[in-house]
Amino acid sequence: MANNVLIVDDSQLMREKVVETLKRVALFNNYYEADDGINAIKVLSKEEIGMVISDVTMPRMDGFKLLDFVQKEKRLEDVMVIILSGNRGVYDRIKGLESGAIDYITKPFHPQELIIRVRILLKMKQLQKDLKEKIAELERVSVIDNLTGLYNQRYLYDNLMREYNRCERFNLKLSLIMLDIDNFKEVNDFFGHQCGDTVLKEIGRLLQVTLRGYDFAVRYGGDEFIIVLSQNTAIGAHIVGERIRKIIEDSPILKELNGGNYITASVGVATYPDDTTDGYESLINKVDNALYLAKREGRNRVVYNARA
Ligand code: GH3
Ligand code: MG
Repeated sequence: MANNVLIVDDSQLMREKVVETLKRVALFNNYYEADDGINAIKVLSKEEIGMVISDVTMPRMDGFKLLDFVQKEKRLEDVMVIILSGNRGVYDRIKGLESGAIDYITKPFHPQELIIRVRILLKMKQLQKDLKEKIAELERVSVIDNLTGLYNQRYLYDNLMREYNRCERFNLKLSLIMLDIDNFKEVNDFFGHQCGDTVLKEIGRLLQVTLRGYDFAVRYGGDEFIIVLSQNTAIGAHIVGERIRKIIEDSPILKELNGGNYITASVGVATYPDDTTDGYESLINKVDNALYLAKREGRNRVVYNARA
């Protein structure tokens, strides 16, 4: 939030008094002034204002009209408006707060009261901002696999469902690739679990650098990965599957981690609507079947279309 304040009052003396009070405790970086609602809007459109302290009765445009404007403007949704008015009646105060002011202070004001109220509001705003950031961070973390940095199952289900429905509606194709590292247990057994983790991370990195922007890779479980390819035909998906299989096999980093032996993966491919039209879960079953066949037929290969 911009740490700038705008004081709106037709009395220059009153504006000076407010500015002088707030400056005493340095609550803001910049102090702007306007003598009525219209000039206030001009300032709001040019400057990043976090708080407005406004009188009610002013020539041309009064405080309520200004409040109304601030509330309707999307860009100003985070601006807090405090009314500072000579109208001391309870109904005036109710009307002010009902109109969207965050606080209502009466004139003549006591400097300490103004400072305390402004401080509380700034603190409240800061807490709200911190909370929003925390929530955004939690939302991000909750869909990421913390070992590989790829998306997790939760993200897969949410997005695959949406993507599947979109492809159904617009007659588009959607392909899944599922891969599982061959004999991964042996890596763990020979070189330790930590080395196994490094292999998983490296595969995650290889998948991320290989994919196009609108495709995404997921760590589906242990040593299993799923790649969602939007608008990719069965043949296209098969080519991507083969490319990934080869990238893993050719990786010198993976080979070194495995004591000089190749690390390979088996890959299954399935496509909507070629393999199924029974929903995204069915598409996952199909790709799982294809992967199973790749394992059964000898590993380190791509199997497409398990109509079994
Ligand atoms: P296959 O060729 O049939 O896939 O043989 P595999 O040895 O890879 O067997 P499988 O895929 O069934 O087993 C996966 C293994 O992955 C089992 C488990 O010990 C290991 N694993 C699962 N999650 C992790 C992990 O987070 N880190 C490490 N290091 N190993 C994991
Ligand atoms: Mg495996």
